[in-house]
Amino acid sequence: MKTIGIDLGGTSIYGGIINDKGQILKRVDRETGKSVGADEVLRRISLVIDDLLKIENDIIGIGIGSPGFIDTYNGKVLTVGGNIEGWAGTDIKGKLSKKYPNHQIFVGNDANVAGICEGWIGAGKDFDSYIMITLGTGLGGAIYTKKQGIWYGQNFQGGELGHAILYPNGRKCTCGQNGCVEQYISGTAIEKLYFELTGKSLNGKEIFRTYDTDNNSKIIIDNFAKNLAIYISSLKNIFDPEGIVIGGGVINSKDYWWDLMVDSYRNYVNDPKGLEIVPAIYLNDAGMIGAGKLALDNMK
Ligand SMILES: [Zn+2]
Repeated sequence: MKTIGIDLGGTSIYGGIINDKGQILKRVDRETGKSVGADEVLRRISLVIDDLLKIENDIIGIGIGSPGFIDTYNGKVLTVGGNIEGWAGTDIKGKLSKKYPNHQIFVGNDANVAGICEGWIGAGKDFDSYIMITLGTGLGGAIYTKKQGIWYGQNFQGGELGHAILYPNGRKCTCGQNGCVEQYISGTAIEKLYFELTGKSLNGKEIFRTYDTDNNSKIIIDNFAKNLAIYISSLKNIFDPEGIVIGGGVINSKDYWWDLMVDSYRNYVNDPKGLEIVPAIYLNDAGMIGAGKLALDNMK
């Protein structure tokens, strides 16, 4: 059986035909477009779907991973639409179901579907319980147990790990709180903190690349690793999962911070044993594959 998996991000829409082993058989992508509005983003998603259906018409399930707080049972974006302007409140499933009446549409939060992928065929597949941390522009999360699947929470804000408060009265977050984890542990946070320290704008990659030559880069990245270790210590004590899987774009630079993060975790936590911390395997494809799996698991 095959499904379509769509990974919707602030910059690009990635779509793929996914088989029941989690392989991507065909890919299509398009720009999401800045400030184009929800209807235009939906139109671009359907162009990706149309292209994929032209290649493979024997498909009934379409899964979509979207940023924001997502009511996954009704396929709607709630009050927070992530980094897509005007996306909050969009009835993704309702609108796409009108265009594709013969297909079943499923929508999940982007970090949750990435977690579904890693648990299915990736770094979390041997864990009975794991927490996925996605370090990209922000910090996304998924909480999973084999018995219960993904934890969605009462208001579909379960696993919004980026908005736990790490430093009370700390840096202002886009969600309205102060001191959120995402403001210290994410690609954007690294860039902002570097700018505040030096007055110079470097992108994340440049900051990592100058770890050995620019002491300011080292300060920012070491702090990032230690903050992540503090947060993992809390997650261990709150959830006691078998594993923590760390993915997202920042994992590509893990050589600069992984060892310090693990050492710091061992220093900070009361009992470091019994938790495996592992890098994700699927990285950029996790959202697309996990969205396909969401459809595969829920089709009737
Ligand atoms: Zn926040």
